[in-house]
Amino acid sequence: IGANGVHHVEKAQKNEQYSSVLHQQVKQQPPKIASGKGNYLLSSTGASIFDASCGAAVACLGHGNERVKDAIVRQLDQVAYCYLPFFTTEPAERLAREIVDSTDGRMEKVFIVSSGTEANEAAMKIARQYFTELPEPQLTRTKFIGRKQSYHGNTLGSLSIGYHKARRAIYEPILSQNTSQVSPCYPYRDQKDGETTEQYVARLVEELELEFQKLGPETVCAFIAETMSGTSLGFVPPAPGYLKAMKEVCSRHGALFILDEVMVGMGRTGTLHAWEQEDVVPDLQTVAKGLGAGFIPIGALIVGKKVADTLFKGSGAFVHSQTYQGHPVACAAAYEVQQIIKEEKLLENTAAMGEKLGKLLKERIGDHKNVGDIRGRGLAWGIEFVEDKVSKKPFPPEKKISTLIHLAGLQAEHGISFIPGSGSADGRSGDVILISPAYNVTAEDVEMIVEKTEKVVRGILG
Ligand code: PLP
Repeated sequence: IGANGVHHVEKAQKNEQYSSVLHQQVKQQPPKIASGKGNYLLSSTGASIFDASCGAAVACLGHGNERVKDAIVRQLDQVAYCYLPFFTTEPAERLAREIVDSTDGRMEKVFIVSSGTEANEAAMKIARQYFTELPEPQLTRTKFIGRKQSYHGNTLGSLSIGYHKARRAIYEPILSQNTSQVSPCYPYRDQKDGETTEQYVARLVEELELEFQKLGPETVCAFIAETMSGTSLGFVPPAPGYLKAMKEVCSRHGALFILDEVMVGMGRTGTLHAWEQEDVVPDLQTVAKGLGAGFIPIGALIVGKKVADTLFKGSGAFVHSQTYQGHPVACAAAYEVQQIIKEEKLLENTAAMGEKLGKLLKERIGDHKNVGDIRGRGLAWGIEFVEDKVSKKPFPPEKKISTLIHLAGLQAEHGISFIPGSGSADGRSGDVILISPAYNVTAEDVEMIVEKTEKVVRGILG
């Protein structure tokens, strides 16, 4: 053991909790997971936790899937790694074809990376490159419009297009100044009394239009939105017609329309692509979590015809590459995941079980004095907690209600994992917990999730 090793051993002897991992909560180690099977995680102390969140809406087939394991091993036996810019591989080709086919040819090419953040960074770069390669280049287009409270990742580019105040705060001076944000679509809080959905959507559309005018329409590369807000707002489905109308504004001004489906794409909402339910097709789309179900990190930028054709006729090269792009083992795993979703009819199950989950949650805790809103689609449901149900006044952020609920759920007496939403950190929305179980949950699982949720919520809020 070298000097550092001795240092660690000494620290570990003094304090069993000592960890060399730089955890998000630097002073506190989260529960250690020893194994996972089906929809359960087992901690190193033997506690069994029902994974009602799939981690961060990732493990959509649950844990320990034999078919995916075999696909991974088969690929490891073939070739574990090769550098995609120099070569291509069958797993990468097959997965990209599968994704394009799933859009009925409405999208054209797929750039495979290792995370949602990387997919969003690639989307920003290809959007800029598109305008530089048009037959008449539009070099003034350098700006991106996102939405307040949205989350698109934690790297500097993705943090710049998102607008999570707390996550941005200390980095603000080094974020891109070429980004701005309009209001999200958040009917529970923002639709005014007496305002129809059409009027509310028209107001949001007008706000985007004004933002284009303020920035100068010829300076905007793209508008980016999550098809359905994930951790930031807590699974808020878009109002009917909202995304279509927002795309129309972009198209009118020649800007691109990007949908971030990192969290809600690849089946989570009951259709493979969440935009299929919105009568809209993005110019660029990003996916990640449900694509590989967490077996190997993977994400993808899906490129529509307009951008793909322009690059093909232009330089013929995307000015971007990454060492692990199109990683063969990740692609083989993700392809198998997608086959399982199709063969086991898991989209249908997601839609049916999602409806049941939403209905039961509303029945069991909808009337609770601190439950402001229960919303979602497919197996993606958010519960927003408020101090006052009538005024919708949120709890003070320092009470950290969603964190308390999350931590209580992990206790042995409950054994359930939720995602605590992050939006309350901005002080505008209430505390949210997100429920996003695996696509293969049964009716009994759903009943158990609701029962445990009710117990945890009443345990914290009475
Ligand atoms: N976009 C959305 C909507 C997300 O929910 C996330 C992660 O939670 C990201 C992007 C970033 O993805 P990743 O953590 O895989 O980089």
